[in-house]
Amino acid sequence: MANARKYMIAGNWKMNLTVDEGLRLVERLDSKVGRQTSVDVVVGPSFVALHEIANLLKWSKIRVAAQNMSEFESGAYTGDVSPRMLLTSGCSDVILGHSERRGHFSESDESIGRKVALALANKLMPIICVGETADERDRSETESVLARQLKGAFPDSVKENVKAGQEIVIAYEPVWAIGTGKVATPEIAQNSHSFVRGWLRENLSATIADSTRILYGGSVKPDNAAGLLAQEDIDGALVGGCSLKSSEFSAIIEATPGYTPEVVTESGAAKSA
Ligand code: PEP
Repeated sequence: MANARKYMIAGNWKMNLTVDEGLRLVERLDSKVGRQTSVDVVVGPSFVALHEIANLLKWSKIRVAAQNMSEFESGAYTGDVSPRMLLTSGCSDVILGHSERRGHFSESDESIGRKVALALANKLMPIICVGETADERDRSETESVLARQLKGAFPDSVKENVKAGQEIVIAYEPVWAIGTGKVATPEIAQNSHSFVRGWLRENLSATIADSTRILYGGSVKPDNAAGLLAQEDIDGALVGGCSLKSSEFSAIIEATPGYTPEVVTESGAAKSA
């Protein structure tokens, strides 16, 4: 096992799968990995599927994340979805600052910071996405971009809540690797993860830096997952395309260091292998 943090494998379904398709996927996933506790597994359906998926997973260990959230608590914000709506639909986690939200919907670092603050105030765990574009990498701006995005995602109230013990997860997702098949090499990913952990150490505390999970996202597949997950500062994966098939998503979960399948004993009781 590369480190003491518990691995997390999270799926971001993006704008894919109807409610029925999502339910079928989650049924298969649950029967394979829904009882084990060695790796945290998260699915990220569309807003309209959240409630039914969370209901189906009520007794499962699989967690449910929304893919986005309003930066406002409630009120006249047509089309927005509030933190309370997510919580009461059965979500525990929310993906914030995905590069597709930043790019296609012009979400700013500050707006993402407001969403992170609101998520924590409502006891939702944010999975905060950061990452540079290909041009930014070519201009050697990776670290300055990550530092700027992290600063935006951690306004003072977020820092205070995290210091008070609230959990966050960070996902390093180089934009050039998302949906392109061009996965970052384990070394490139590890360098950025180490930078993110260093930023947490400098701006929050050593304890928070050591305990915060940093996921890698960008063209993770069953055949490249093990190499990435073996890196010291990579604590899991945020998976797009390969989270849409239960066989591929389960194969990534099974490739995670320390993964232990649940077995059923003769008496019918479940325990770890
Ligand atoms: C993502 O959307 O967060 C992602 C990493 O996508 P993919 O795995 O398809 O590159």
